[in-house]
Amino acid sequence: MSKPQDFDVIIIGAGMSGMYQLYQLRKLGYSVRVFEAGTGVGGTWYWNRYPGARFDSESYSYGYSFSEEVLQEWDWSEHFAAQPETLRYLNFVADKFDLRSDIQFKARVAAAIFDETGNAWDITLEDGQEARARFLITAVGPLSTPVMPKIDGIEDFQGEAYHTGTWPHEPVDFTNKRVAVIGTGATGVQTIQEVAKTAQHLTVFQRSPNYCAPLHNSPIDEATQARIKASYGEIFAKCNRSHGAFLHDADPRFALETSAEDREAFYEQRYGEPGFGIWMGNFRDIFVDQGANDTISEFVKKKIRARVKDPVVAEKLIPRNHGFGTRRVPLETGYYEVYNQDNVVLVDIKDTPIERITPTGLSCGGADYDFDMIIYATGFDAVTGGFDRIDIRGRDGQRLKDKWDHGPRTYLGLQVEGFPNMLTLVGPHNAATFCNIPRCIEQNVEWVSELFRYIKAHDVQRIEPTLAAEDAWTEHVYDAASKLLFTKVDSWFTGINRNIEGKDKRTFLLYAGGAPAYREKCDDVAANGYEGFVLQ
Ligand code: NAP
Repeated sequence: MSKPQDFDVIIIGAGMSGMYQLYQLRKLGYSVRVFEAGTGVGGTWYWNRYPGARFDSESYSYGYSFSEEVLQEWDWSEHFAAQPETLRYLNFVADKFDLRSDIQFKARVAAAIFDETGNAWDITLEDGQEARARFLITAVGPLSTPVMPKIDGIEDFQGEAYHTGTWPHEPVDFTNKRVAVIGTGATGVQTIQEVAKTAQHLTVFQRSPNYCAPLHNSPIDEATQARIKASYGEIFAKCNRSHGAFLHDADPRFALETSAEDREAFYEQRYGEPGFGIWMGNFRDIFVDQGANDTISEFVKKKIRARVKDPVVAEKLIPRNHGFGTRRVPLETGYYEVYNQDNVVLVDIKDTPIERITPTGLSCGGADYDFDMIIYATGFDAVTGGFDRIDIRGRDGQRLKDKWDHGPRTYLGLQVEGFPNMLTLVGPHNAATFCNIPRCIEQNVEWVSELFRYIKAHDVQRIEPTLAAEDAWTEHVYDAASKLLFTKVDSWFTGINRNIEGKDKRTFLLYAGGAPAYREKCDDVAANGYEGFVLQ
């Protein structure tokens, strides 16, 4: 056996957060090794190559803000860029800062064990290779563990089968094929729109419909490009002031205090605008008051009815068990019109779940369907899944998976009591989980980097939050969410995934108190000498 390699810091994951953290720590003079399971950088944008994958955030609000050179050198071609462009962008950043020289690819971390006497983390990769570092930073992403549905016979299918989250690197052709898509979340909606264009026949299996809203994407012309480049400062300042770090922030008015006529006009305006304005830039009471929420839900239902020709199909596409915006709103381009096409059929499986995948297709509701291809758009083991698939053990051999058995507990979503020297970028209960994510990634990474500056200056060997700080933060997370309607709905926000044993009870995985409040709290903690942490 070769001797484990030694580093100051090991980062797991070379997506947007891991890449930026590497860049910052290298500048501070730390020796860093990033272990990345894929063959390239990009994380989410590396894995999610499914047809139709694209931003729901304005491209220029999504890129990194830390480098003026990157901002000026990179041209986004569309207001909401497609996945191949985003992956090119992240490769451009990796090239520019020579990030790959400290990243080991095809290196999936299997175990991370804390050595109490040495105050260090021992890492083992799936291939048995070992490494050691004083500090471990997880940059594993909140939506990085694809989950196949719990349906018998999945292995039996003889045709092509893909999960959207592990889509092949080679082109997939739908022409002359009978295709099934299972799942109608944000991923399913984007996939369906695209597959319907060329498939001979598409059958969509829908368990729960979502309220979708138009993306209104368009190309960026030269004049707009110049304007964007001249106003990056304002763009990022605006994001940083808003609750979810988007270019859209809640309207100061309340739905129920606005006349029905003005309300309707406002909804119409938001429905006609690009991006998340209809969700993030809506009346603030739609998230907390069922009566207010009903007004926007009714508006979107009306739109669905107007766009889908067959009234029976339209009714199937309308959610019955939750209100608008209480689950992630998929943004779409002609999604509802897909169901007006002759080559598309919607199968509602709410009351008749898929019984089995067969060698030639699937059986459902007493009928057998034959397919050439099945696409699983069935989502992820959200937020904690990326942690659970690594055997992470802290003090006294405690497993992180066990500690989080009844839901995650963290301090600031950045550290866990009992797991010294481990920092969790975009971890559970971190504002980055409910955010225009790169904006919050930059906040996370910059805060952690300041901590590492402090660690170097004060020769800190060990950092761990107190149990009291962790308890208080966890309580605050639940308090901040308690009034929100989305805590009353099953979704990945509330930790529900019935394809996974034990994930059938609602908890809360995000931090919904808002990015500005979170940033302020993190800054206060640092200003008070890292209050709530014990540094040795
Ligand atoms: P998801 O929202 O969890 O949706 C999974 C879908 O699969 C749901 O419709 C679910 O039905 C269905 N499903 C799961 N198991 C099933 C089963 N056994 N039988 C039938 N149907 C089943 O996952 P996602 O669509 O991949 O999206 C996850 C998140 O990724 C989004 O919320 C978003 O935050 C992010 N995302 C972002 C973008 C973007 O920014 N452009 C694009 C795509 C995704 P139920 O609803 O009934 O469980």
